Amino acid sequence: MALDFALERTSTPAGDDRIAEALAAPGFGRVFTDHMVTAVWTADGGWGDARVRPYGPLSLDPATHVFHYAQAIFEGFKAYRQPDGTIATFRPEANGARFVRSAQRMALPALEVEDFVTAADTLIRLDERWVPTAPDASLYLRPFMMATEVGLGVRPAREVTFVLIASPSASYFSGGAKPVTIWLSEDYTRAGAGGTGAAKCAGNYAASLVAQQEAIANGCDQVVFLDATERRWVEELGGMNIFFVLDDGTLVTPELTGSILEGVTRDSILTLAKELGHEVEERRVDVDEWRKGIETGRITETFACGTAAVVASIGALRWHGGEATAPAATPVADEIRDTLVGIQQGRVPDSHGWMHPVP
Ligand SMILES: *Cc1c(COP(=O)(O)O)cnc(C)c1O
Repeated sequence: MALDFALERTSTPAGDDRIAEALAAPGFGRVFTDHMVTAVWTADGGWGDARVRPYGPLSLDPATHVFHYAQAIFEGFKAYRQPDGTIATFRPEANGARFVRSAQRMALPALEVEDFVTAADTLIRLDERWVPTAPDASLYLRPFMMATEVGLGVRPAREVTFVLIASPSASYFSGGAKPVTIWLSEDYTRAGAGGTGAAKCAGNYAASLVAQQEAIANGCDQVVFLDATERRWVEELGGMNIFFVLDDGTLVTPELTGSILEGVTRDSILTLAKELGHEVEERRVDVDEWRKGIETGRITETFACGTAAVVASIGALRWHGGEATAPAATPVADEIRDTLVGIQQGRVPDSHGWMHPVP
């Protein structure tokens, strides 16, 4: 049975001035809309107490499970203002389906995809003043779920809370899409066989931060991880998948092995690239194939992809004692970014039914 979201409006909505100011330079994940969605699951009663309510702090007991055992997952997707003024989200059902898979891996209850999408539609409609109109800007939706049972016993929580918040966000790259420099993590891995790499869980991010810190210390923007067993196969970045472009136009991306997160952007690019006339391969990529490929010219471009940045070209790969710099021209990444962003912004026909009009 579909959840009913009770509506409790804020008594102090942001004024138009404040919203205009926030939308002028929203950055990423710094400002939030007037409302949020919450729902609570209990082992005995299932999902209930679904509400849209004023955005604000959650009050949690210090012994709440999630603080101790990190039983928590999240999602991220975006709502875009369309040329006719309406609002549409990009593939929310795909994020909802992944939220179910992540929940299963973390022994959390499934939230029906329909409820996931309705929660977002309801919040977006209520807070539609917060959906930017500037090109390249969007409203970022952040659904998450966490164990909110109180007590220190280690077991799947018998009480779980779902929350959805929304944040206007600017284009990821202020001042154009600059290529990023990537640090090759040789000391840390992100996910192992049988682990949680394919789940969008909070703990994966916690585990990646020390490597990200190392990347920054070495003058890089982001970190790329290798597989945990052979330390040889390229997996992905801390929060983005990766693609290589070969000199014959073929796109190659690491195959899903169970330790790689299945990105919605990755999946969309595999589809679009074929339509744009590229061969695509999902297979293992040896880090030496990457390093040598840049030198010999076999690999002409490398880019990262994910909801936040969409497509980010990788200008250089750096590791302890070396660096390989890619050519400055990134025609394939540019073509794919333009096509995908065009669909999201409603400028390019959506032949896949990826855009979900917010009712
Ligand atoms: C969210 C995420 C991605 C990108 O997924 P999208 O659905 O494209 O946003 C890639 N890798 C990791 C580890 C992620 O958490």
